[in-house]
Amino acid sequence: MINRRKTRKIFVGKVPVGGDAPVSIQSMTNTYTKDVISTIKQIKRLEKRGCEIIRVAVPDEESAMAISQIKKKINIPLVADIHFDYKLALLSISSGADCIRINPGNIKNRKKLKEIIKKSKEYNTSIRIGVNSGSLDFKIRKKYENDISEGIVFSAMEYIKFFEDNDFFNMKVSLKSTDIMTTISAYEKFSKKSDYPLHVGITEAGTEFSGTIKSSIGIGYLLIRGIGDTIRVSLTANPEKEIDTAKEILKSLKIRELGPTLISCPTCARREIDVIAIAKNVEREIKNIKSPLKVAVMGCEVNGPGEAKDADIGLAGSIRGGIIFKEGRVLKRFEKTDEMIKEFIKEIKLLDEKYRR
Ligand code: SF4
Repeated sequence: MINRRKTRKIFVGKVPVGGDAPVSIQSMTNTYTKDVISTIKQIKRLEKRGCEIIRVAVPDEESAMAISQIKKKINIPLVADIHFDYKLALLSISSGADCIRINPGNIKNRKKLKEIIKKSKEYNTSIRIGVNSGSLDFKIRKKYENDISEGIVFSAMEYIKFFEDNDFFNMKVSLKSTDIMTTISAYEKFSKKSDYPLHVGITEAGTEFSGTIKSSIGIGYLLIRGIGDTIRVSLTANPEKEIDTAKEILKSLKIRELGPTLISCPTCARREIDVIAIAKNVEREIKNIKSPLKVAVMGCEVNGPGEAKDADIGLAGSIRGGIIFKEGRVLKRFEKTDEMIKEFIKEIKLLDEKYRR
C-alpha cells in the first residue's frame, strides 16, 4: 500500500488535483491547436481512452482564440501551454483555458507575471509552474552546476514565492528533466519544502519503446515514494499511447482501478498455443472494459492455471487444444483455439457485466 504525500488540493476545471483526489492522467495534443476540428477529434479520442486533463500548445494568437471553440466540444479540462509570450497566457485565460502552464525560464518579467496573476484570479484559472532543466535561467544553471536538481527546485520556489506574495495559491508544480535521476531528485527535494500538488513526468522521454521504460521507472519510482498527484507520460508517439502507459503504471502500482490487467507468460518449449498472438488479440479486445479483472493468457495447461491462480479468468494451451480456467480450475476444454478465444472474450465480458452490477 502506497502512502501518498499530503498535498493541498487545487482544481483544473472540474478535476481535483492533490489532496485526496485520485492521481489523474494527462496528455498533450500533437495537432495544430488552431486546427480546431483535428484538435477536437484528437481530444475526444484521448478522452475515450482515459485522458482526464488535456494540454494544448499555444504558439500564437489563433491557437489561443481556438481554445473557446475547442472547449465547447470537449468534456475534460484544458491546459494552455505558454512559452515566452505572456499575452498568449492572458488570451488563453479569457478564451476559457482551465489552467495555464508557464515556465519560469521563459516568462520572467514581474510586471507581466502580475498581469497573468490578475487575469487568473479573475477567471479562477489555475496555473502550472512548469520548471524544465533545459530552460533554467543561466545564472541558476551556473550556480547549481554540480546538482542541477537543486537549481530546478530553487527556480520553482523562487517563482512560487512571487505568486504567493501576490496572493495567488491556485498552483501545481512540475520539475522536469530528461534525466531520470535528476527528475527524481528534484521532486524529492521539492516535496520536503512545499505541499503544492505535483504534476509528474519525465520530459522528452523518447520513442514509444524507450520513453515507456524511462517514464515507467521515473514516474513509477516517484509514485511508490508517494509523490505525484497527476501524471503525464511523454512519448514521441500517438498520444493515445501515453494514456495507455499512464493507466498501466497506475494499475500496476494499485493506485487506481482502471480496467483489466493482463497476465501472460513469456512462453517456452512447453507452449501449446501461439501465446504472443493470442495475448495481443486479448489485450485489444479488453481495452474498453472498465472493471479491474485479472485476465491470463498462458502457454500450457501444465503450469498456466497454477502460475496464474490469481487471475479471475484465464486460458491456456493443452495437447488437444486449450482450456479456460477460473481461479486455477478448469472451466471448459476446447479442441479449436479460435473457439476458445471467442468463448474467452465472451466470459470476460460477462464477468465485467457482473462486476459492474
Ligand atoms: Fe512455459 Fe507453460 Fe510457463 Fe508459459 S505457462 S512459460 S508455456 S511453462
